[in-house]
Amino acid sequence: MTKKIVPIGPAANPNLTAADQLPPPAAQSSAPPAAQHNGNGAPVQPIEPASPQIDERTIEQQDANPRIDEHHPQGDTTGEPARKASAWTVAQTQLDSVAAFMGLSDDQRLYLRTPMRELIVHFPVKMDDGHQRMFTGFRVQHNMTKGPTKGGLRYHPDVTLDECRALAMWMSWKCSLMNLPYGGAKGGVIVDPSTLSKRELEKMTRRYTTETSIMMGPERDIPAPDVGTNAQVMAWIMDTISMHRGYSIPAVVTGKPVTVGGTVGREYATGLGVTYITRAILKQSTGQTLDDISVAVQGFGNVGSWTARTMSERGARIVAISDKFGAVYNKHGLDLRLLQRHMAETGTVIDFPGCDKLSNEELLTLDVDVLVPAALEGQITKANADQIKARVIAEGANGPTTPAADDILREKGVTVIPDILCNAGGVVVSYFEWVQGLQSFFWDESAVRRNMEKTLLDNLEVVMGVTSRRKCSLRTAAYTIAVQRVLDAAELRGLYP
Ligand code: NAD
Repeated sequence: MTKKIVPIGPAANPNLTAADQLPPPAAQSSAPPAAQHNGNGAPVQPIEPASPQIDERTIEQQDANPRIDEHHPQGDTTGEPARKASAWTVAQTQLDSVAAFMGLSDDQRLYLRTPMRELIVHFPVKMDDGHQRMFTGFRVQHNMTKGPTKGGLRYHPDVTLDECRALAMWMSWKCSLMNLPYGGAKGGVIVDPSTLSKRELEKMTRRYTTETSIMMGPERDIPAPDVGTNAQVMAWIMDTISMHRGYSIPAVVTGKPVTVGGTVGREYATGLGVTYITRAILKQSTGQTLDDISVAVQGFGNVGSWTARTMSERGARIVAISDKFGAVYNKHGLDLRLLQRHMAETGTVIDFPGCDKLSNEELLTLDVDVLVPAALEGQITKANADQIKARVIAEGANGPTTPAADDILREKGVTVIPDILCNAGGVVVSYFEWVQGLQSFFWDESAVRRNMEKTLLDNLEVVMGVTSRRKCSLRTAAYTIAVQRVLDAAELRGLYP
């Protein structure tokens, strides 16, 4: 059931402090162009079931000797097959280790490590120059025991089915940890969106949406932005599904522009959440405040830029930032407003005046108080964990640390704030957006922020309780809580038929 859209503008709250008043981000997309109806649903291909078997090789071997992902289809969009440590193996290994910690049965473990639905789609798009190009996309729904599935949509040349499986599983744990009525999902298209015109991007998005629409809906599966997608892409998805069904369905996606039923506060929610959680953990673990701590941020997209900005507004010194082209460093701190302008003008952070140039690898090993990986998974591995000098790692990205690296960091005494806790602000506010869309009743910005902070900090307290009672890492505690909640729900629902 869907309600009509109530367009509503951002409601700035005069009671918020200067640091709390965030103007609309510079990178916000412009309003969507006139809707194009694309209703020609082509056949979709439900593909092989997920193998419940774990990869025989260890993560350590994969770190040293990355494998070719067999599920990476080779079309004219892909060039070479992806060669990298499998995020899926990392996600499964993390689950196996918490299953052992919790003493789960093999039946429980296999149930949890198997995604419930997977779809691969191959589809054509007419490009601006008149030629037709084939694209490949995925959507994976990991577990729907606690409600409809929720998870981002990624546009990146290295997207694979395995990567979507991993990200979907992590979403299940994140939603469960935050006590949201969702399971986890993830989708992606193998493409570098920067190589497409806006029109090509829109056509590709609408066709992908059509191909995967059998899995989508406010009661089924609700996408959101991830790497390479943004509010504009969400608006196109919402419009496509609405055109198919004949009426507006704003709650089918989150992370939409506010004008078409999005919520105030979603754009910066993930980064602000990273800041809230990091601030709380610093206070509890070392007694430090954000004032003048040094921070290095890998990635300057949605999560990285908003984390940097919200930490800096609370006194932190952001000394290094990177994007996929490299990193910039200034030990006195970077002027983020000027850096944002430089980024808008040149498309990259590199060559920002008054800074030293670093590689991404060098950024990760800087001597800083807090390191925020906010780019892609598999960045902190066995190969570099030993050289990490940060006291705290705040995982803005999903899956940036491999299990082998986790072990090394624990021995070194580094506090790792796990992704499913650290970057959960985004899905928490996505949940608020979904609720507002279903009710056609919209909150003001202070209500969104207050409820996000409370949800994050309440669940952080539960994690801290388990950490001290069970004498385990934050990741193990967070996973234990999340997995137990899913198992409790499955137990209560019973096994159909
Ligand atoms: P984005 O596309 O907005 O930004 C990604 C950034 O990473 C860009 O600056 C890009 O240049 C940089 N990057 C890419 N490859 C890199 C590399 N090898 N080294 C350094 N930088 C690199 O994506 P995003 O939405 O900010 O997502 C970043 C991470 O956060 C992903 O892991 C995503 O799954 C996770 N995440 C995103 C959200 C969200 O709300 N957007 C929520 C939770 C988690």
